[in-house]
Amino acid sequence: MLLDECAAAGVRIDTSCGVERVQQVDAGFVVHTTLGPIATTALVVATGGLSIPSMGATGFGYDIARQFGHNVRPTRAGLVPLTLSGTHQTRWCDLSGVAFPVSACCNEQRFDNFMLITHRGVSGPAILQISSYWQPGDDLRLDLLPQVDAFAALKALQKQRPAAELRSVLAELLPKRFAERLCEFWFESRPIRQFNDPELRAVAAQLNDWPLVASGTEGYRTAEVTLGGIDTDELSSTSLQSKRVTGLYFIGEVVDVTGWLGGYNFQWAWASGHAAGSAV
Ligand SMILES: Cc1cc2nc3c(=O)[nH]c(=O)nc-3n(C[C@H](O)[C@H](O)[C@H](O)COP(=O)(O)OP(=O)(O)OC[C@H]3O[C@@H](n4cnc5c(N)ncnc54)[C@H](O)[C@@H]3O)c2cc1C
Repeated sequence: MLLDECAAAGVRIDTSCGVERVQQVDAGFVVHTTLGPIATTALVVATGGLSIPSMGATGFGYDIARQFGHNVRPTRAGLVPLTLSGTHQTRWCDLSGVAFPVSACCNEQRFDNFMLITHRGVSGPAILQISSYWQPGDDLRLDLLPQVDAFAALKALQKQRPAAELRSVLAELLPKRFAERLCEFWFESRPIRQFNDPELRAVAAQLNDWPLVASGTEGYRTAEVTLGGIDTDELSSTSLQSKRVTGLYFIGEVVDVTGWLGGYNFQWAWASGHAAGSAV
């Protein structure tokens, strides 16, 4: 459909064509490519972000922006798995493949979705979402029993199965291997009737507010988006034209607009492309 629309509009598509440099001339721009120069009065830069370099991502759009005096806001990987190190990694990562719902909270943002333990850290939609709001050193908390009052749940199980060990009680609320791991390193497993209320409250408080000490992210190699980019203040909000250089447009991920998981980044790329295309 896209190719049909392009053919109808007389679009020429050049593939395997690297853009090496952009030159401003009186009549607009000359784009120097590996297939030769192209002169144009309007230039729409849609070179994307830095995510997944192996798929062709480059910082070239930022270079063009800087060449024309635009501010480029600092970039970093977003929607990206987090890594753990030291004991945090050794205690969790051999559970690679275990997934369960959590609520991930950081810098006043909260995402309720699944977390997946990986060989190097944590991933899954809740973690990818919160990663866009997290930077090394930030306090990141996981509610391991979202929407569950852990103390009330433990009290109820204590009444139902007083002789059961904490590890088997927790296995009713969490994946068995993860529950066992909690009792290996963090909680003492004994028959639940032996826990008094303050002790149960301490276990519950940790389950509902677990501090996750991440060491970093998997970086642009696996990130689904790039945070930061060309400052929106210097672009028209209706046409995406540069406020500095007539005829120059920036659209899509190269711009400092980042969406959540769920198609918002594609939506931004298409919507901004439509706006610039209509203006051109
Ligand atoms: C693994 C993965 C999964 C994703 N999943 C989703 C999702 O489910 N939903 C969602 O909304 N978004 C998703 N995204 C994000 C989404 O793909 C991007 O936000 C979107 O494609 C950005 O579109 P764009 O046109 O701005 O840039 P891109 O699609 O990145 O296109 C830029 C193009 O410019 C080319 N280029 C760069 N420099 C040069 C140069 N010097 N010369 C010639 N060509 C050059 C690049 O090779 C690339 O082909 C995902 C991204 C990744 C990496």
